[in-house]
Amino acid sequence: MTTIRMQHVHVVGGGLAGSEAAWQIANCGVPVTLHEMRPHRMTAAHKTSGLAELVCSNSFRSDDRETNAVGLLHEEMRRLGSLIMHAGDMNQVPAGGALAVDRDGFSAAITAALESNPLITIHRDEVAGLPPADWDSVVIATGPLTSPMLAEGIRAITGEDALAFFDAIAPIIHRDSIDLDVAWFQSRYDKAGPGGSGADYINCPMDRAQYEAFVDALLAGEKVTFHEWEATPYFDGCLPIEVMAERGRETLRHGPMKPFGLTNPGNPLIKPYAVVQLRQDNRLGTLFNMVGFQTKLKHSEQVRIFRTIPGLERAEFARLGGLHRNTFLNSPKLLDDRLRLKAMPRLRFAGQITGCEGYVESAAIGLLAGRFAAAEQLGKAVVPPPPTTAHGALLGHITGGHVETIDAGPRSFQPMNVNFGLFPPLSVSPARGPDGARLRGPAKAIAKKRALTSRALEDLALWLGAAAPRPAAAE
Ligand SMILES: Cc1cc2nc3c(=O)[nH]c(=O)nc-3n(C[C@H](O)[C@H](O)[C@H](O)COP(=O)(O)OP(=O)(O)OC[C@H]3O[C@@H](n4cnc5c(N)ncnc54)[C@H](O)[C@@H]3O)c2cc1C
Repeated sequence: MTTIRMQHVHVVGGGLAGSEAAWQIANCGVPVTLHEMRPHRMTAAHKTSGLAELVCSNSFRSDDRETNAVGLLHEEMRRLGSLIMHAGDMNQVPAGGALAVDRDGFSAAITAALESNPLITIHRDEVAGLPPADWDSVVIATGPLTSPMLAEGIRAITGEDALAFFDAIAPIIHRDSIDLDVAWFQSRYDKAGPGGSGADYINCPMDRAQYEAFVDALLAGEKVTFHEWEATPYFDGCLPIEVMAERGRETLRHGPMKPFGLTNPGNPLIKPYAVVQLRQDNRLGTLFNMVGFQTKLKHSEQVRIFRTIPGLERAEFARLGGLHRNTFLNSPKLLDDRLRLKAMPRLRFAGQITGCEGYVESAAIGLLAGRFAAAEQLGKAVVPPPPTTAHGALLGHITGGHVETIDAGPRSFQPMNVNFGLFPPLSVSPARGPDGARLRGPAKAIAKKRALTSRALEDLALWLGAAAPRPAAAE
């Protein structure tokens, strides 16, 4: 009789993603060693030695699984036996429709569950460089504050531009919330470029008075300050728009808001004084980013000020802008659809380092990476979740859904929370309510979200039944 000697999977980083990955691997029956460098070496944001420490807010955001994308992600994770969600539910504190947790109880529950699992060994050590060559299956989940020596090791194999140390995030808007009676599709000078049509950008025109008022609003708007340890990370091609506005009232008009090479079909004889351009962000064409609009304005200020832009009065934001210290990979180029580094497939990545954003999203990608690694060790097929599920939509954003652009400026792939813009559109949108009445406005939007979430949960059940390794539920 031949016996299969199962290799350990090594998980590096015991944060949100690494803790979930280790749990999923062990619950599939595969032994795992979890390496966490704290408390011997701390990051600039962590304060404790606990696993899955929440470094800032204690909220997992909305728990509404029917009409909210992160609420749906919660529900999918529960159905996939998530330790993070189980510990979150057990340590819930009152927070209205959000799931907020007692951070100490949450981290203690996760640490205890992992420490007491017979298939999990925890090493409190830093992996200070590329993982040793004899670790044949590794999940790297070292987060936005990956230790410098490991980051350097990763950079050495992925290349200079493949690992970023700051994100520079411009807001992203749901295309169907942009008023195309005011804005229009056109590329500057109608240039088609590689893969383009000559009408690839959405353009929002401003007259002089609107531009002047917009610059005033940017200058007066409330900004977020950097943490002391972040230093000020401004670099060429990625200045926040409000910093550009501070350098001169005309700077934006000669930079990201230049009006040249564009003609408004609704008003062809009058040249706009300035133009805000939006570029397609995902392959589905449901999301558009505001070109060159990385910003440190507070989120509420962004919504208020950017909705004064003609055509964006009713804009729904899939993501707001920001600039943070954040180590993350250019994943669409570097990772395959199972989160493995194409150049070294024994290394798999999980969590925020892959280019998702947020506690829950990081844990969800840890969950997938753990299941993929376990399936590989068990010799089972590794089947990614359908793109119609929240897990599949997030995985799609990370490993292939994003549209790479060649324009100057910050690298175009930037971290993102889960949102409905990442999901493939419905083949038929609900038009009437249960009473047969025609749906309009907010009621129509809610019906669409309900249809997306019920499709997701149905498809998740099919995937679970067919292909996914099935771990035991969290005890
Ligand atoms: C300052 C800050 C505030 C944030 N606030 C929020 C928020 O309020 N809400 C939200 O949803 N998201 C927030 N995020 C974003 C993100 O969701 C969290 O950072 C989240 O913890 C990411 O999960 P992760 O598992 O990828 O990384 P982490 O949870 O950071 O886990 C990574 C782990 O790897 C360890 N590690 C690093 N390098 C090594 C190494 N070489 N060897 C061994 N161990 C290593 C670290 O000690 C850490 O425990 C914040 C991020 C930062 C930086």
